Amino acid sequence: MAPTSKKTQEGYSWTGSTGVRKGGLPCKGVVEPSTRIGSPAGHIHDAIVVGAGYAGLMAAREMTDHVLLLEARDRIGGRTYTVETDGILYEMGGTWVTHHMAFLFKEMIRYGMDRDLLLTHHAGYENDYYTLNVPGTTPRKMTHEEAGRIASRGWDIFVNVDGENCRKICPLPHSQLGNILVDRKDVEKYDKISCRERFEEIKHLLTIEESGLLVALLLHISGGSMENSSLWDMVRSHALMTYNSENFGPIWTTFKLRQGQSELASRIFQDATDHGLHYSFQTPICSINDLSDGQAQIIEVKTNSGSIHRARRVVSTVPLNVLRTVEFNPPLSRKRQEALDIGHVNFMTKIHAEVEGSGLASWNGMNYSNLLMFGYGDGVTENGNAHIVGFGKDERATYVPEHHPEKTIDAFEKLHPMKVKKMVFHNWITDPWSRGGPAWWTPEYMTKYQDELQSRHGNVLFASADWANGWRAAIDGALEQGFLAAHEVISETKRMFQSTFTSRI
Ligand SMILES: Cc1cc2nc3c(=O)[nH]c(=O)nc-3n(C[C@H](O)[C@H](O)[C@H](O)COP(=O)(O)OP(=O)(O)OC[C@H]3O[C@@H](n4cnc5c(N)ncnc54)[C@H](O)[C@@H]3O)c2cc1C
Repeated sequence: MAPTSKKTQEGYSWTGSTGVRKGGLPCKGVVEPSTRIGSPAGHIHDAIVVGAGYAGLMAAREMTDHVLLLEARDRIGGRTYTVETDGILYEMGGTWVTHHMAFLFKEMIRYGMDRDLLLTHHAGYENDYYTLNVPGTTPRKMTHEEAGRIASRGWDIFVNVDGENCRKICPLPHSQLGNILVDRKDVEKYDKISCRERFEEIKHLLTIEESGLLVALLLHISGGSMENSSLWDMVRSHALMTYNSENFGPIWTTFKLRQGQSELASRIFQDATDHGLHYSFQTPICSINDLSDGQAQIIEVKTNSGSIHRARRVVSTVPLNVLRTVEFNPPLSRKRQEALDIGHVNFMTKIHAEVEGSGLASWNGMNYSNLLMFGYGDGVTENGNAHIVGFGKDERATYVPEHHPEKTIDAFEKLHPMKVKKMVFHNWITDPWSRGGPAWWTPEYMTKYQDELQSRHGNVLFASADWANGWRAAIDGALEQGFLAAHEVISETKRMFQSTFTSRI
């Protein structure tokens, strides 16, 4: 695979000699030239798609004809993209893939990438163990298997709210509210509970190590606090892991695309442009105005630079925490506005580090009270150094990685002794086009707002991983949502043209 020469303006890198640098990182998701719009000014497209993350790419590819894609960034992929440097593909956001994610796996098969995988964990290097560091016990080394057993026991007790390992309360994780097996009211009861409340109920059943690892894991997954993270999203995740915590690793943190997420996204984008997709990158939009009347259906989408694009339908894939910055006319319902004002609570950190020597490529570990709570060994760079990925919870108040490289280095060193030589990362929190990581909801958010977030607003449809039915907060959920929106638009467009044609003859 030839290295790409395209460089994104996004992301950060750090070395001792350069300090923190923004952008300039090689990424094949960058689109050059940034614009392809063949239609004359004033042209009415069948649809405008806002956002070129996986939801937008899926929607655009499925519709293609007479579709315009508008994207704020210089690249495709949104919260999922790959940076190529030092012979390593650094996944800056969405990373891991599995055949348990149906929409994603179908795309991997379509583009011949389903067998072209890499493992995250590499056994056999010098530091082939897990380090556990939780308050109230002496930090210690253990095997990866022992750490897995400690994590599983805490998690299994935590999620088993119905005494049947979630099978009773969440039998159909792709239709959690309103399915044929469970009364919606029963689900709503559990949806009210926070991770904190559930933890207080079960903590007496756990050892200190199990408690510490469980809480760290919950915060790692939700990117929020124990108080503002919903128990239900953990129950849903357990159901999606086929009700088995042994699938945690294999489903969530094991397999990566060898050619990187940006390659898969590029193949979807290329497919769409081969079929006529028009696009404009580095084009943030600020308002969506529906001017439709009884005679014509026209929506105007205005960009920050003042251009106006017209279409009969709009598919907005703007993320949950960003959507409140877009003006709608007519205004959004009060309920949707309320949902956007609350937003989601995932403000996690993900940082890649190249560290001296290859030994830590086999290491995993955690330190509960550290800025980076988890570290995963993830391969060896072409310089023979280990690649470590660090994850932290919501530390916005005191820690901004691009401003505080010394805090990040300190955090890596507190996970395990190591010498950090280089760091690569994206700050999804300060990024104006994401304002957070993958969506994790507050207690009762699903009950109150899921239906509203998924509903359309006149001729505007909303598709995002942030309110997907199944794999919410994941690539699969983005693809699911893009697919659903596209097919709603396609059938309406067909009906519209059939009726125009019929009324002319
Ligand atoms: C650190 C991290 C790790 C993750 N790990 C995994 C993982 O391992 N596996 C997994 O499945 N998922 C993972 N996810 C989640 C996954 O990446 C996201 O759920 C998914 O990529 C979201 O896709 P989307 O299309 O819904 O939204 P996005 O990818 O955010 O796309 C929305 C697009 O809209 C654009 N946009 C926003 N505002 C405007 C505007 N005003 N005008 C024009 N364009 C605009 C944005 O620039 C963006 O490109 C991770 C996410 C993060 C951040």
